[in-house]
Amino acid sequence: MKIAIYSNLGESSNIVATSLKKKIEESPDLSIDGLNPEIVISVGGDGTLLSAFHHYQDISDRIRLVGIHTGHLGFYTDWRDYEVAELVDSLEHDNGQSVTYPLLDIRVNYVSGGPADYGLALNESTLKQISGSMVADVYIKDTLFESFRGDGLCVSTPSGSTAYNKSVGGAIINPTLNAIQMAEISSINNRVFRTLGSPLIISPDEWVKIVPKSSNRTILTCDHQIISNEAVESVEYRISKRRIAFAQYRHTQFWRRVSNSFIGKVNLDD
Ligand code: NAP
Repeated sequence: MKIAIYSNLGESSNIVATSLKKKIEESPDLSIDGLNPEIVISVGGDGTLLSAFHHYQDISDRIRLVGIHTGHLGFYTDWRDYEVAELVDSLEHDNGQSVTYPLLDIRVNYVSGGPADYGLALNESTLKQISGSMVADVYIKDTLFESFRGDGLCVSTPSGSTAYNKSVGGAIINPTLNAIQMAEISSINNRVFRTLGSPLIISPDEWVKIVPKSSNRTILTCDHQIISNEAVESVEYRISKRRIAFAQYRHTQFWRRVSNSFIGKVNLDD
């Protein structure tokens, strides 16, 4: 089985990546292949896993990801830095087991015209204005839903619901649900401007379209990257037909993962 190692540049990640590479090269069943892998192992934290996903995005339907975390939050990662030998053993006994999560399709049209741009997010995409408040019409399917005024809007996947979405008051969604969520980033709500004021979740046959009304520059993000700071005419978000696959040698149950990451140890004696 062909394996790529995608590591961040931290010292502890380097040590893990070096030891992992050595063990893979020693195995008769495994080999290193950074160009055409079947399994991509990210070594670092969620930020590294997001970069690994985008690095291999074009072949994402042929790969499965595995995350080893080295001191970061590691929400997406199932393995710790001291478990390299166990992971290599699981790779040697691989039988193709996987779990898949929804992704977010982004389609953007610019005021300057030209062809639409496309993006694919694992966590979320945000549209924010650089200065002043963003004024935008929000459509669900083709029906005007509300006129938004505030810092911006965040549209996230279920597995990304624990990231930026959580900071702006969005709900945590179990990634077995095929849905996307839109959450407001500091909306202005008064007698003059009114938005829903709470996050909303849309189904696979729906889409969200955001049409900025002011000519001010916006920033459009996709996960950890800014994909454009050109004036945007509209952005359309849908649940992608593509999904991300993780190798499921061991898979921490979703709510346990949430509890471990955000609540920590619960002392039942208190
Ligand atoms: P970063 O700003 O260096 O780190 C963001 C933090 O979010 C890290 O602790 C990261 O975990 C964690 N994280 C990433 N994906 C997560 C997920 N699905 N569930 C729970 N936590 C998650 O940026 P980065 O590492 O390049 O990650 C980019 C992400 O940062 C974006 O996709 C966005 O979700 C998030 N972000 C959040 C805010 C906010 O909450 N106000 C603002 C900007 C961006 P690790 O430590 O394991 O890497």
